[in-house]
Amino acid sequence: MEELLELYQTMGISPAVYAYGEKALEGLKDRFAAIDRVAEYNQAKVLRAMQKNRVSAACFVPTSGYGYDDLGRDTLERVYADVFHTESALVRPQITCGTHALTVALSANLLPGDELLSPVGLPYDTLQEVIGIRESPCSLAEYGVVYRQVDLLPDGSFDYEGIRKAINPKTKLITIQRSKGYATRPTFSTSQIGELIAFCKSIKPDVLVMVDNCYGEFVETMEPSDVGADMTVGSLIKNPGGGLAPIGGYICGTRECVDRCAYRLSAPGLGKEVGANLGLMTSLYQGFFLAPTVTASAEKGAVFAANLYEPLGFRCVPNATESRHDIIQAVELGSEEGMIAFCKGIQAAAPVDSFATPYPSDMPGYSDKVIMAAGAFVQGSSIELSADGPIRPPYAVYFQGGLTWCSAKLGILMSLQKMVDAGLVSL
Ligand SMILES: *Cc1c(COP(=O)(O)O)cnc(C)c1O
Repeated sequence: MEELLELYQTMGISPAVYAYGEKALEGLKDRFAAIDRVAEYNQAKVLRAMQKNRVSAACFVPTSGYGYDDLGRDTLERVYADVFHTESALVRPQITCGTHALTVALSANLLPGDELLSPVGLPYDTLQEVIGIRESPCSLAEYGVVYRQVDLLPDGSFDYEGIRKAINPKTKLITIQRSKGYATRPTFSTSQIGELIAFCKSIKPDVLVMVDNCYGEFVETMEPSDVGADMTVGSLIKNPGGGLAPIGGYICGTRECVDRCAYRLSAPGLGKEVGANLGLMTSLYQGFFLAPTVTASAEKGAVFAANLYEPLGFRCVPNATESRHDIIQAVELGSEEGMIAFCKGIQAAAPVDSFATPYPSDMPGYSDKVIMAAGAFVQGSSIELSADGPIRPPYAVYFQGGLTWCSAKLGILMSLQKMVDAGLVSL
């Protein structure tokens, strides 16, 4: 591949970095083949759902105003429901992000006096204000919903005894976050989540379970809804939007739960009947169609990065060999300079804003400076190659995404190149 190497050199990748990358890749054939098999299964699952629901050009027609009898929207929701094997789904551009989808799911199904339990420790940052763990106007706490939490055991496993004690007659809803997000705990597999749900329901059969599925969609052949979750929730600018959805969120679940979510999102009595599609249907359908292979590309990028950086002495979470249940990769770079160099590489390899230079800066809600690299078609999209992290020990960069494996590979090679150029790594 002389030709490729020459082109890469004009883009700033040295022969040494390229060769180091190729060596790492040689050992990854089986891993990549396994990722492709999951993608093939999920692709067929999505296709079958689109065929069964007779997706047609009429589904792509834009609607405005109330959006009554919106064929594209209603069909898309049936496609999602079939892929997630649920009775119903709410998939809307009016759901502005993942946090919004989770907020709708929680506030629609919790009433004053009810208790919410997280058996997997502290939830994702933005949910803390939603729940009222950090005080906020309009939090669930303000509406009289009590929050309880059972932390994971030191080895990252579920504290079944603690959970048994925490579940009581008032426990209405249990929230389980699949991905580690920006924490250091492990991400849970679908089957681990299934075990936890079965345990909780054995103690209280009528308790509702919601799974925050962000970053987990299509990484496995099963979703949390296949193992007992009453609601499975996520963002369309992550995995299921396939990089094409410009906005949106989804809630897949039982008819009873999803109908309540629709009432909460629009208005009691209106529910799913309103909500025009605003001309976004083509990107939501096509994005969902692409999502299995896009997710596979992002996962390959994450595996590649761990196998590039771990042998150089940088701790990677997940590590180079362990199994994966989401697309996030953390690399502990050990210094601020390392984080800057890594992010510069990701930025330089992006299709958009490649000329920008990321640098650490203050961010609302964070006590440390934060650095972010992203050159995305959809602003803030984290299914596109992106990296960020707070400037504090262990100086970990969290990165995720990559719409195509080849672009993810180039971004990761470029990150290593910038580390080499800065004298932080020698190959
Ligand atoms: C991204 C994410 C969210 C919130 O999604 P936004 O779209 O950023 O609001 C919630 N939970 C987890 C685990 C996430 O990764």
